[in-house]
Amino acid sequence: MRKIAFGYSTRCNIRCAHCVAAGDMVDDAKMELARAKEVIREMAAAGVRGMSFTAGEPFIYFDDLLELVGLCREVKMYTRIVTNSSWAKTPEKTEQWLGMLKESGLSQLRMSYSRWHQQHVPQQNVLNAADGCRKEGIDYFISFVTDFTREDDPYEQFLRDNKLKFFPEPVIYAGRAETFGRKKIFTDYQENRCAMNPYLAPDLNMYACCDAGSHFTTTNFFLLGNLENHSIDQLLTKSENVPLYNCIRSMGISNIASFAGVKAREIVTYRKCELCKVLFDSPGMLKFLQDAAGSALPNWVR
Ligand code: SF4
Ligand code: SF4
Repeated sequence: MRKIAFGYSTRCNIRCAHCVAAGDMVDDAKMELARAKEVIREMAAAGVRGMSFTAGEPFIYFDDLLELVGLCREVKMYTRIVTNSSWAKTPEKTEQWLGMLKESGLSQLRMSYSRWHQQHVPQQNVLNAADGCRKEGIDYFISFVTDFTREDDPYEQFLRDNKLKFFPEPVIYAGRAETFGRKKIFTDYQENRCAMNPYLAPDLNMYACCDAGSHFTTTNFFLLGNLENHSIDQLLTKSENVPLYNCIRSMGISNIASFAGVKAREIVTYRKCELCKVLFDSPGMLKFLQDAAGSALPNWVR
């Protein structure tokens, strides 16, 4: 199933210190509403069946968002909105807004939560948003962004105490978080395959990857092209056929790193997006892997 992370606007009403979306792109870029609607119709015709509204804070343009979610329902797309919950100030307002979104066809709300978000947004807002989802019958989950240090324990405890549905997500050391300095983790040896959902930015550039990969500006390895020059189907087809992308999906990033000569003891210190940066945002390494992707790489075993 084709799925897209849709960046209607990169504008956000808060400034999280770890924000991966900040950095290379204009902070308040926004698509024209009419163009966004055309794009959604074209996406539906190209077989896209899942849409995640993301980038900056989608609720800033709430009226537009209602229209876009409504259009997605019309063209039979599953919809998710990723939000910082800053709008969920009172239970009444939260229920009112979620009720309108439910009526437009929203399938799922994903609330971003972390010790960095919560410097700007009270934890109570996240609780309001979750309660509102329960009342309105909208599926929800909380994406708990963490660097897995003890500092995050009280934040996790809040989620547990309130019986909220959450999953921990590692902070990505890109965008503003690049200045944090990467902390090594030591995990068991995982393949680290990645499904790679494409991301459409407000300037209509489409990327093969919706997370840190759109920030690999040394090589622009994940940049597929711009919708002003290509159709959606062309760009999605490209994303599905680049041999090295397919290696990321099928073999996983750890195996690619191992093929490239990175030692196992080094591989287990990286989270997958960071390992991707090592492999694909350095021109020499990328050329080596691209050359191998059609032959030796997919057949390689450790
Ligand atoms: S992490 Fe999300 S909520 Fe925080 S500044 Fe970035 S886009 Fe805004
Ligand atoms: S692992 Fe790589 S391909 Fe997957 S989201 Fe991270 S940067 Fe993108």
